[in-house]
Amino acid sequence: MNEIFDSQTTFKDLGLSDEICRAVEDCGFEHPTHIQSKLIPEAVKGHDILGQSKTGTGKTAAFGLPILQRVEKNEPFAGLALVPTRELAIQVAREMEKFGAKTGLSILPVYGGQKITVQARKLERKPNIIICTPGRVMDMNNRGLLPYNKVKIAVLDEVDRMLDIGFREDIRRILGSIKHKHQTVFVSATISPEIEKLARQYMNKPMDLTANDAKQLTVSQVEQSYVAVEPWDKRRLLRFLLKKEKPELTLIFCRTKMTVDRVAEDLKRNGKDVESLHADMHQGKRNSVMKRLREGNVDVIVASDLAARGIDVDNINLVVNYDLPEDPDIYVHRIGRTARRGRDGKAIAFVTPEQGPLLSKVEQLTNVEVTQVAYDDCEPGKPPEKIRQARAKEQAAADQHREKKSRSKIQLPDAEAQQDTSKFPGGIVPVSGPKKRLGGRLRTRRS
Ligand code: ADP
Ligand code: MG
Repeated sequence: MNEIFDSQTTFKDLGLSDEICRAVEDCGFEHPTHIQSKLIPEAVKGHDILGQSKTGTGKTAAFGLPILQRVEKNEPFAGLALVPTRELAIQVAREMEKFGAKTGLSILPVYGGQKITVQARKLERKPNIIICTPGRVMDMNNRGLLPYNKVKIAVLDEVDRMLDIGFREDIRRILGSIKHKHQTVFVSATISPEIEKLARQYMNKPMDLTANDAKQLTVSQVEQSYVAVEPWDKRRLLRFLLKKEKPELTLIFCRTKMTVDRVAEDLKRNGKDVESLHADMHQGKRNSVMKRLREGNVDVIVASDLAARGIDVDNINLVVNYDLPEDPDIYVHRIGRTARRGRDGKAIAFVTPEQGPLLSKVEQLTNVEVTQVAYDDCEPGKPPEKIRQARAKEQAAADQHREKKSRSKIQLPDAEAQQDTSKFPGGIVPVSGPKKRLGGRLRTRRS
């Protein structure tokens, strides 16, 4: 069975209008993916749905097409999709515009970092469908520019991510403010008890379209491996790896914004065409980096987890976990940026000596063995002076400790040591006293 596509079905079978089916075909989609063929027919009937499928399996169209199908041209603010990041708001709106090209519906992304006045003007034109980040939608609602009372279908995309990054209260507030009867759909790559609870709370008899076979969370086309590396040697290894693997487009994930900038600087100095992407950057810059990424007009992007979810760019053929994340879910989302649309991709994680248990957690979650690769032609680097000094100090302390310990051992005087070995069992003369197990005393014959 095809892992992603439902080749027995066409979009026409899913209850979508001709206009939508034609636009979808124009996007080059032949068959729906499994989540699309399960979710779309129910969603167009108006059911509330909790849907789950792996990253890169077409969840955007799964919720986007039913919105386009159910919203009418004369219904302003009827579709509301909440997404966790600005980049995703832009991407989802863009994709829905393509699917809805023949419907005449207007779609607007609304997100933080954009000028309020500019957005206010766009909202005054009463778009049919809004794709937005939670903070900004509440702000616009408070200003009276974005009413909730017209919402016909509300969607939460990437629900797991929303909860991770602390949108919990915002989501509750928004969903709780839509008081009239409406349809609600959640989609997520992973489902937790908290998400199920949220669904029960805000949905009316939700259909459960979560996969029972979610054991393997990553698509099998991603070839996963790791390289053992000392923390101070990562940058050098990265340069080597990029030379060796010759990827077309690489996405590198680091834990902090500072590391993102440092790694990007280092690669730039070494002649790579690099951009960084993290939340402290100006929105204009973030948009221009995303544009270069989408156009494939850059070699390497070094990013924080801002880019870990939802971002859908063709041709990312290598994802590097420069810092292994503490949370294995994040690993899954990061590597889901490659091997999209059934293509192949590689994911390589840098694992430092103390991160073995973290790697095991990842393997447990993904149910995939992450194999080690060793670049034999990559000589390990020399530790920096600071680390060499600290190590020398550690070593000296350990030596001293060992010496002290061996001196404190009971040593029999030489004369005694040379006594008649036949007096001892097996001829072995003890060099220390009896073991602690015996309470440090020899057994007496009294008992
Ligand atoms: P997810 O949200 O599940 O991670 P996306 O909705 O971002 O996945 O889709 C991943 C990629 O697959 C996108 O580039 C999208 O255009 C493409 N895609 C989605 N559905 C289909 C389909 N039925 N046929 C071909 N490509 C598809
Ligand atoms: Mg998605």
